[in-house]
Amino acid sequence: MAKEELECSFCGRKKPETNLLIAGLDAHICDRCIEQAHGIVAEEAMDSDNSDLTEELMLKKPRVIKAFLDEYIIGQDYSKKILSVAVYNHYKRLLQKDTGDDVEIEKSNIIIVGETGTGKTLMAKTIARMLNVPLAIVDATVLTEAGYVGEDVESILTRLLQAADYNVEKAQHGIVFIDEIDKIARKGDNPSITRDVSGEGVQQALLKLLEGTVVNVPPKGGRKHPDQKFIEVNTENILFIAGGAFSGIDRKISKRLNLQAVGFSASIKEDVVDRDNLLKYIIPKDLKDFGLIPEIIGRLPVLTYMNPLDEKTLRAILTEPKNAIIKQYQKLFEMDDIKFTINEKALAFIVKRAVEYKLGARGLRSLCEAVLTDAMFEMPDGDQTTLVVTRDYVEDKLNKSTIKKLKAVS
Ligand code: ADP
Repeated sequence: MAKEELECSFCGRKKPETNLLIAGLDAHICDRCIEQAHGIVAEEAMDSDNSDLTEELMLKKPRVIKAFLDEYIIGQDYSKKILSVAVYNHYKRLLQKDTGDDVEIEKSNIIIVGETGTGKTLMAKTIARMLNVPLAIVDATVLTEAGYVGEDVESILTRLLQAADYNVEKAQHGIVFIDEIDKIARKGDNPSITRDVSGEGVQQALLKLLEGTVVNVPPKGGRKHPDQKFIEVNTENILFIAGGAFSGIDRKISKRLNLQAVGFSASIKEDVVDRDNLLKYIIPKDLKDFGLIPEIIGRLPVLTYMNPLDEKTLRAILTEPKNAIIKQYQKLFEMDDIKFTINEKALAFIVKRAVEYKLGARGLRSLCEAVLTDAMFEMPDGDQTTLVVTRDYVEDKLNKSTIKKLKAVS
């Protein structure tokens, strides 16, 4: 065949009509066909990605989900169980979309009530890690009604898109964790006298998102990029998990338990009420009394609570989870060929301080950092190859550190 007669074996374009013609064994392909083929391959890959996603999710039964959570999170059995079922049902709902019958499984968005540092965010993170779906963690306090200074609720989806590397399909199966949901509660019990920008308006704006709607999302977020092209995101299959400390809600629970003559309180005898952990008796009405509007509560139908962390739990958190804090330090030291050990008394002392400072598990991290910073600074280029941390060592480092100031603010 003469050179000028070469043509693309796929579209028939002659060589001069193409930018590039690549020769194979018996055929040629032009640049345009390569691009088209690449598009098809990418699309196919995405489709099979999604079917993988649903197939994989289907395999995760609630017990398996809980077992995974157990690897990373200490205790909180009740919440783990509730969440395992909610997540399972959520993804079952995605699979059963087109069965054609009239039974429509509703979303099982979740609300977790628990003091700060008890692992609410960790729960959401671990679920996302297990399912390998994108996760956006957002703070409800920065959200405002459209038109006010702050972020519109759509920004939540911008974060999710970013977490999904702008793969819309993946984002639409993702998880959004809305932290500090209690901070957008309506202040005061009388809805007619309050119309606060930061509270009810944001709750109203969140409603549609939680329920499932198509939202035009600015991919770069915010209002700083007015020219950006919006991306449509359907929130129907996004799992929303809200978390909040709801500080003071225990008083409302206590009041309800004591004052109600019939109903819920009748089933709990006064003497068996766990007064140290009233959250375990929480019902949706308490959230309403706290200032969440009924519509929001309705769209977060799965309600659960986190137990406060006692010394035993804090001690376990230090070393037991798969990526426990102490294991992380061990790894860090190992990278410098340093063998790091810490004895039981030292761990107990750290736990005691964490309880004193009332910082929950988050305090453990700051304390360990305070204890080990000197060693992490000095040892990498020193001669010592072992570090044995004892109670005295901990006490000495903590006494010298500024962490004592934490106590004052807690
Ligand atoms: P919250 O969202 O309730 O304020 P986080 O999930 O941010 O709390 O928890 C703070 C840190 O404490 C986490 O990074 C985690 O390492 C640790 N933590 C809290 N609770 C647990 C737990 N039950 N098991 C293991 N680690 C925990």
